[in-house]
Amino acid sequence: MLLTVENLHVSYDQIKALHGINFQIQEGEIVCIIGANGAGKSTTLRAISRLVPVEAGTVMTYMGQDLLKYSADKVVSQLGISHVPEGRRLFENLTVMENLRLATFARKDRENIEQDIERVFSIFPRLQERQNQKSGTLSGGEQQMLAVGRAFMSGRKLMILDEPSMGLAPLLMLNVFDALKDINKQEGTTILLVEQNARLALQFAGRGYVLESGHLVLEGNSADLLATPEVKKAYLGG
Ligand code: ATP
Repeated sequence: MLLTVENLHVSYDQIKALHGINFQIQEGEIVCIIGANGAGKSTTLRAISRLVPVEAGTVMTYMGQDLLKYSADKVVSQLGISHVPEGRRLFENLTVMENLRLATFARKDRENIEQDIERVFSIFPRLQERQNQKSGTLSGGEQQMLAVGRAFMSGRKLMILDEPSMGLAPLLMLNVFDALKDINKQEGTTILLVEQNARLALQFAGRGYVLESGHLVLEGNSADLLATPEVKKAYLGG
């Protein structure tokens, strides 16, 4: 197992966002978590990235190590977990190239950086064309490509993505998902994504979990979930 999450509890002040969820991800898998607004999807990813505190009793094990011993910056630099947050969070006044380079600040394998930039450009030729453009002036889809590219540059043992399809036209959405599949296949990067677009997520991932109000209520391989009446009714439009 690459990542094992047991009994994950997270609260924001008085609001309980996650009520003790359990899930596992094997190395090389693509796994999705689907759920409605406010189900706790982003919170789950933030807990893995150590961006929100977890409650006592939570156990998270990553490559056999206690993930809770790592701070948010060490999760990226030492464990190779990169997080593409909802809404992208790029440095808007920096160019495409500057954003990509900045993402590598904590990497120790400086010698591989140039070839990784080439790799990002081969996945997203549009970014190469726009490498000197300020990222704040990129289109929404181009910004999403850059967010994925940046995650690839910072570390790529495990990539966790928060609604990568958000705001993308259907064709670009497919481009980004194709690129992620390529990264998964060629680099062996494990991918965990959360999505409101359940159909797309389940077509992309091998396995999925359904999160409802802070509880995981269903899990299974994607083909089975796509055929499950509850999933069809609640998440696939009947
Ligand atoms: P969406 O699909 O709408 O992005 P989500 O499934 O990602 O939703 P979360 O963002 O994880 O849901 O939120 C889970 C719950 O925690 C929600 O009720 C939300 O209002 C609450 N919450 C999230 N962040 C905070 C915060 N910083 N302070 C207080 N409550 C929060």
